Amino acid sequence: YMYIREEYRHLHDLSKNAVNLLLEKGFLGHNILGENFDFHIQVFSGAGAYICGEGGALIESIEGKQGKPRRKPPQTKECGLWQLPTLVINVETLAAIATILRHKTNDSKTPSYLGSKMVSLSGKINQPGAYEVDFDMTFKEIINRYGGGMIQGSEPSFLQLGGASGPIIPKEKFNLKLSYEEMKKHGYCFGSGSLVVADQTTSLGEYLQTVYDFFQDESCGKCTSCREGNRQISILLNKIVRGEDKRKSLDLAVTYAEHMKETAFCGLGKTAPAPLLSAANDMYDVILDQENII
Ligand code: SF4
Repeated sequence: YMYIREEYRHLHDLSKNAVNLLLEKGFLGHNILGENFDFHIQVFSGAGAYICGEGGALIESIEGKQGKPRRKPPQTKECGLWQLPTLVINVETLAAIATILRHKTNDSKTPSYLGSKMVSLSGKINQPGAYEVDFDMTFKEIINRYGGGMIQGSEPSFLQLGGASGPIIPKEKFNLKLSYEEMKKHGYCFGSGSLVVADQTTSLGEYLQTVYDFFQDESCGKCTSCREGNRQISILLNKIVRGEDKRKSLDLAVTYAEHMKETAFCGLGKTAPAPLLSAANDMYDVILDQENII
């Protein structure tokens, strides 16, 4: 199954056309290329919930149920879709398998970041879009070479890496290289590979509040720490934006975020704290500083 969110309807149609083409050419379906090997791909459209990126919720959704995470064990690789062993993995990873096998090497010195990564660039840059970039490029190089640099009059302030639950990275760290090692060293992960670049006109407090409004909507509500945690963090960030009890509100929001990370039931609630915790770690005063936003 190729699972695509309902919002990306155009990608659903594109993928379906590609699958039909492969079927016509005999690269998919029964008895592929006369090799007595069958393989089928079904393009599936979800109902439009962020939580269905979580393996168990995705499977529930394909089975026609409400998209909520499953209790583990059993792991999906043992008992997943229709109670069968199931591998849930993103298409980009599967697409890399042929290249990895073709260039397989036993050299233990080979860095793990050889090759390329799909990234999507957006925010205050000249050329937003999806790009395939070399793994060891810095954020700065990616923004300048592929994003066409900052738009006129914009100075970089921070970026968010890897989607809504990705870390906030201050401009001082734009020289970090996009590699698994370097990201791990700094406690970052690049998730979906998206980079949203903000400039001096973006209030970090407001930006974070938008993120937690999103999580408040997208939390499936199954466990208290995520359902209530995202809501409370959003309320506290709103207080900061309005200039009320700023320091106290931020410290409390950080406490809730740390709690969520430890106690949430699934990946959504465990990773949702990352934007706030990373921003509070590197840019604590910037979150509080509403006055200097242009
Ligand atoms: Fe649902 Fe959030 Fe709990 Fe995951 S962490 S099960 S999304 S409430």
